[in-house]
Amino acid sequence: MAQTCELTWESAPAAAAAACAVCGGAGLEPFLDLGETPLANAFPASRTGPPQPCYPLRAARCVDCGHAQLLDRVPPEAMFSHYLYVSSASSTLTAHLDGLAGEVTARAGLGGGGLVVDAGSNDGTLLAAFARRGARTVGVDPAANLAAIAGARGIPTEVSCFDTGAAARVLAAHGPARAITATNSFPHVQDLDEYMRAVDLLLAPDGVFVLEAHYLLDMLEQTAFDTIYHEHVSYWALGPMKRLLERHGFAIADVERLPVHHGQLRVWVARRGVARPAAAVERAEAAERAAGLGTARPFREFAERARRLRWNILALLEGLRGARVAAYGAPAKGMTLLSFLGLGPETIAYIADRSPLKQGRFTPGSAIPIVPPAHLLADRPDYTLLLAWNFAEEILAELRPYTDAGGRVVVPVPEVRILP
Ligand SMILES: [Zn+2]
Repeated sequence: MAQTCELTWESAPAAAAAACAVCGGAGLEPFLDLGETPLANAFPASRTGPPQPCYPLRAARCVDCGHAQLLDRVPPEAMFSHYLYVSSASSTLTAHLDGLAGEVTARAGLGGGGLVVDAGSNDGTLLAAFARRGARTVGVDPAANLAAIAGARGIPTEVSCFDTGAAARVLAAHGPARAITATNSFPHVQDLDEYMRAVDLLLAPDGVFVLEAHYLLDMLEQTAFDTIYHEHVSYWALGPMKRLLERHGFAIADVERLPVHHGQLRVWVARRGVARPAAAVERAEAAERAAGLGTARPFREFAERARRLRWNILALLEGLRGARVAAYGAPAKGMTLLSFLGLGPETIAYIADRSPLKQGRFTPGSAIPIVPPAHLLADRPDYTLLLAWNFAEEILAELRPYTDAGGRVVVPVPEVRILP
């Protein structure tokens, strides 16, 4: 399949990471090279615009502390100042965030006006769920367009990265936080020490810091190579996380593995000595040791499976030549999949996505048009490639009229398969 992207790409070398994001070690060992790709959330409004910058995308592990991370770092302002992913676009995710708000409210005693600060608050979906439960809420997010959406729903939002400057401003205006949350923004953090200093500054002495991130063990087990894109600087496991937290006077109090987004880690963090670690922490650490996360082997095997999966998906699509093929979902992960496989509009006519912010735009680099889901339901292509495979259940329910009428769905990861 032709790599049409090249025509609209412009190489923009990222600053190669000099040191491990967690331990500062210089021994970063690449394990998967996904080529050069444009930024996964930079959806151009036209096919004929100026060339988009593209950056090398290579995942590496630190030989000293085992932390999995990107080898190449893109300046955050290029990725997060205008953001097109909104938490409220998925009903699965909205329900998940509502459950999180309920649990944090109960555990941190936020109901009577306690302050919760969400770092990377997006469109305020999580904080709105806290506000409904009686907490005071403040968001911090660098995307001005999302802060405006959150503000319109009554969530005050500081337009900034979560750093000591933002933490000091929130502290001065609202006092210390009983809880700080970070859902899926923690993997974005480039300067982890600055981030943890900000948590330290803003969190009440007995407060709780709750973070959620895609879990490295799930990514490896499910061959979810499409979790890797420039925004995700880190691929977290508990080992390296513990090392970072301890350096800043914090400890892991509890941990949960959740099924949302193909496998998520929820970590409850408190100041050292405040809480006794739950038994789940030692169990999770033992599972990481058993999987060999401190060694190169699971990363090498993951990369081999990812390359094999790439060929399997391409072979299946080649077999569908002549059929009409579209895709559903234009999440950032889908952009990694499209670019790693070299897919463009010659293979995928269009992509249906529920987010109005993406509709009418084009995929970065590959320039596939993005349309509302109603278009796909009316057009009924023969096959629909499910790029947002982590929300398969929700999307298959939405596509029921399409599959009932004979439309078939191609799920690419963890193994490529055709449904029904
Ligand atoms: Zn390291």
